Amino acid sequence: MKLVYTNENRFLVNNAQNLLVASGIDVVLRNEYAIGGAGDLSPFDVWLELWVVNDSDYEKSLRLIADTHGSHRHREWVCGSCHEKNDAAFDYCWNCQREK
Ligand SMILES: [Zn+2]
Repeated sequence: MKLVYTNENRFLVNNAQNLLVASGIDVVLRNEYAIGGAGDLSPFDVWLELWVVNDSDYEKSLRLIADTHGSHRHREWVCGSCHEKNDAAFDYCWNCQREK
């Protein structure tokens, strides 16, 4: 198991998860239930983590996520509901979950 992505914005991590799952990669989330059960930790100290189950999927996963978050900025779309920008690969707004 290798950590491929983490972000303080849980929707971005969930979007990355959906991207990898759609590509047939086995993934698990960590810290999914940390908020509310973290004791003294602020919720902001506990970022959702996306891990690949098979180390052989690691490089491919990083590429997929990098493609989504980096090189396709010009294909961002703007949410019609909350006007947030979303990466091209995402079908739902990261902010309000509205469909593209
Ligand atoms: Zn939105």
